[in-house]
Amino acid sequence: IQLEKIFKWVNAGNNRTFLLKDINLTINEGEFVSVMGPSGSGKSTLLNIIGMLDEPSEGSYHFLGNDVYKMKEKQRSQLYKENIGFVFQAYHLIDELTVYENIETPLLYQNIKSSERQAIVADMLDRFNIVGKKDLFPSQLSGGQQQLVGVARALIAKPKLLLADEPTGNLNSKQGEEIMELFRQLNQESGTTIIQVTHSEKNAEYGQRIIHLLDGRIEK
Ligand code: ADP
Ligand code: ADP
Repeated sequence: IQLEKIFKWVNAGNNRTFLLKDINLTINEGEFVSVMGPSGSGKSTLLNIIGMLDEPSEGSYHFLGNDVYKMKEKQRSQLYKENIGFVFQAYHLIDELTVYENIETPLLYQNIKSSERQAIVADMLDRFNIVGKKDLFPSQLSGGQQQLVGVARALIAKPKLLLADEPTGNLNSKQGEEIMELFRQLNQESGTTIIQVTHSEKNAEYGQRIIHLLDGRIEK
């Protein structure tokens, strides 16, 4: 991951508000990085740019050698599907799909037999202790349960890069710790690159590097 001179701004009337200013950042394969900073400092914006969801106003972003925002939409989407798992702050589960179907979704983009998909999803449901919820819809779940489903969906296709925006924000402390342990294991044993946004000092320390944002800039 290579971000060079990234700026992000929004225009409102005659005013230009900068969300990110001059971000230069390299993250190597296999790193586990935590992003911290006060509310409004640009953490989600940065994660969304890295996650190919939000185009920067200026600057370049290379991922696995690809100049991400110069690619055609379709190729960028393919690059995302093949490599990235994203845990969203607001879950972004698909309301019309059950827990089972939500978690299965990323596997549908891969060439995996249906019987094999079933086994992989069953294993994930078991691991997250949500087997009994598999036929429920997101609206029937608590915030914490939706968050677990969001994490399970992000991990199901074994992404090279896991991006997580406050992944434990709605979990109780035991569930939160379990998720952090799972991230640690993924990072150490599978070499998954992880970037997480967190307000928690304790969670941040699971990362090998902590990046502090303030007013859209990386603090030196
Ligand atoms: P953080 O994740 O650190 O809380 P964000 O990246 O969500 O920060 O947002 C940075 C700042 O930009 C916040 O003050 C937010 O309200 C503002 N912001 C984010 N997106 C937009 C937008 N589309 N238009 C105007 N302001 C925005
Ligand atoms: P959250 O998902 O909001 O973080 P949990 O689902 O972990 O919370 O719930 C925490 C505890 O509160 C659990 O023991 C759960 O059974 C209970 N609980 C959750 N929602 C309700 C509710 N609406 N009424 C009563 N108890 C609830």
